[in-house]
Amino acid sequence: MPYSYDDQNIFAKILRGEIPNKTVLETEHSLAFEDIAPQAPVHVLVIPKGAYVSFDDFAQNARPEEIVDYTRAIGEVCKMTGVSLGDGNDGFRMISNAGIDGIQEVPHLHVHVVGGRSLGRILPKVG
Ligand code: 5GP
Repeated sequence: MPYSYDDQNIFAKILRGEIPNKTVLETEHSLAFEDIAPQAPVHVLVIPKGAYVSFDDFAQNARPEEIVDYTRAIGEVCKMTGVSLGDGNDGFRMISNAGIDGIQEVPHLHVHVVGGRSLGRILPKVG
C-alpha cells in the first residue's frame, strides 16, 4: 500500500508558513525548529521539506540529494545545540516515531533531537 500523506498536518502548515515556528536551521531540503513542548533542555524537530510520512517512506522514496541534505541537517543541529560528541559534548538521542504503534502524533517525517540531560533508557521495561 502506498504511503498516504495528509497535507493538512501541522508540519506541512509550518512549511507553508501558515503556522509560526522557532527555526534553528533551514537548508534547501530540510527545516529544523524547536519543539513546542520540549521534553529536555535541547528538543529540536528536524523535518524534510518533501511530503514524507515517516522515516521508512523517506528512506524508500526520497531523492539522494534530499537524503544527504536531511542527514547533514541533523548533524548540523547536533553541533548548533551543543550535543555533538565530536565537540566533546555529552550526546543526545534521535527519535522518529512512525504510525500507530510508534505513537506518531504528526504524520510528516520528523526526527526529534533530544539532549542536554541524561535521558534514561530508550524504552520502559515491560514485565
Ligand atoms: P510525534 O509524537 O509525532 O513524534 O511528535 C510530534 C511533536 O511535535 C511533539 O513533540 C509535539 O510537541 C510537537 N508539536 C506538535 N505541534 C507542534 C507545533 O505546532 N509546533 C511545534 N514546534 N511543535 C509541535
